[in-house]
Amino acid sequence: MRRKCVIIGGGLAGLSAGVCLAKAGVEVEVFESSPKPGGRAYSFREPSMDDVIDNGQHIMMGCYTETLRFLQTIGATNKLLFQESLQVDFVDKKLGMTPLKTGKSFYPFNLLKGLLSYKALKFSERLEIIGLFSKLPFLRDYSLAGMTILEWLRKEGQSTATIKAFWEILSVGALNTDPARASASLFASILKKMFLHGNSASTIILPKVGLSELFCESAIKFISSNGGSIRLSEPVKEVEIIDGAAKKILLGKRQLSDFDFVISAVPYYSFTRIFPDAFVKSLELENMPYSSIISLNIWLKENPFKGRFYGLVDSPVHWVFNHGKFITTVISNADEISGRSKDDLQELIIGELEEYFPQFQRGFICGVKLIKEKRATFVPLPHVLSRRPDTVSKVKNLFLAGDWTQTGLPATIEGAVQSGHNAARAGINYLKNTPGI
Ligand SMILES: Cc1cc2nc3c(=O)[nH]c(=O)nc-3n(C[C@H](O)[C@H](O)[C@H](O)COP(=O)(O)OP(=O)(O)OC[C@H]3O[C@@H](n4cnc5c(N)ncnc54)[C@H](O)[C@@H]3O)c2cc1C
Repeated sequence: MRRKCVIIGGGLAGLSAGVCLAKAGVEVEVFESSPKPGGRAYSFREPSMDDVIDNGQHIMMGCYTETLRFLQTIGATNKLLFQESLQVDFVDKKLGMTPLKTGKSFYPFNLLKGLLSYKALKFSERLEIIGLFSKLPFLRDYSLAGMTILEWLRKEGQSTATIKAFWEILSVGALNTDPARASASLFASILKKMFLHGNSASTIILPKVGLSELFCESAIKFISSNGGSIRLSEPVKEVEIIDGAAKKILLGKRQLSDFDFVISAVPYYSFTRIFPDAFVKSLELENMPYSSIISLNIWLKENPFKGRFYGLVDSPVHWVFNHGKFITTVISNADEISGRSKDDLQELIIGELEEYFPQFQRGFICGVKLIKEKRATFVPLPHVLSRRPDTVSKVKNLFLAGDWTQTGLPATIEGAVQSGHNAARAGINYLKNTPGI
């Protein structure tokens, strides 16, 4: 008889777990509360402009190995745009374009060459950055315990200019949090993943299609063609745990008990609602705050942008992505301004575009769509990270996934997919070790 797994949550953690299990011959049933799959990474047709847009621009990197494996399995890697080597077109208000490019020469000398020619900083400041990079291979996690990124950078003698024009861009981009709050240890560990693992690890990968087409359509097809199913608009209300095992799943109008194991792939704030209090308490979780991301999509009658994407140095607008007919501007770590009105935010963003890109004129604009994602990513506070729960729980047939679980990564696509794969592998092991069920 086929073994069955119920997955709660159809975001990237749930879908990647489902694909991994379906591939291994396990019957999968995914329950998703929303009418659409994808969770925090989805796309939709914007009716006013008749274009598909994402709920927020997502970038991936060459070091997203689990994500690339997932996309390979579902046959979607042809929907990605890969860089051959790292290139980010940074724009400085005074200096104009100051690209950071590593080129194709021998790794890691290409990285060194790229940093040495990064013109947004003085030569002595570039050497400061290289000095810290050279310490990365020898850095031990415990030496950064409890420290924030800013405390670490200051301790390492990084100047304000270096922090503003380099470290802050990297850390806000990767962790969506002010460096004065985010964990230094998590930041150092992703710097190692990005910059100490060969040339391709630090390259940027962009979707060529909408996120739903990239991740969800092919994943759902894969799961369905392997005998599984995805139930949309069907929230799980409660999971009953009896004698150390998940026994029953309560849905709106029905309940399930015909499963061997369960994967929870919901975010932290849903997890604490659907599982029994005693179990949640036993995990000793810390309250997990979230931070927001604001995106303004701007359609243009005339597009003056030549590059694929730009990073803005010392601006409230962090990134500009060029999609041809429209551009997407991104403000990360946006809690402080997310309460401002649509007109206010639009004015702020358009004003920055005019200052940073002299070739841009507001007269080119023919449509806009503002998206505020209030709970985009969890805030990686040092004391919260040590309380992220492991995949394997005290409940023998329950495995935990989701970007907030203990992956060693920030809230990212890679964290979500890695957590999904970990939970699927743990479930398969559970089946192997309990043949009697
Ligand atoms: C605007 C924005 C930009 C981002 N940019 C990037 C980026 O550039 N690069 C990057 O790597 N990451 C980025 N991220 C982060 C990334 O999108 C997330 O880390 C990832 O999608 C989280 O996936 P998940 O499956 O863990 O959680 P979620 O996507 O939150 O999925 C959980 C799912 O569970 C469902 N659910 C909740 N409760 C229940 C219930 N009771 N029953 C059934 N279903 C339930 C939810 O509806 C949801 O679909 C960005 C996020 C946002 C919002």
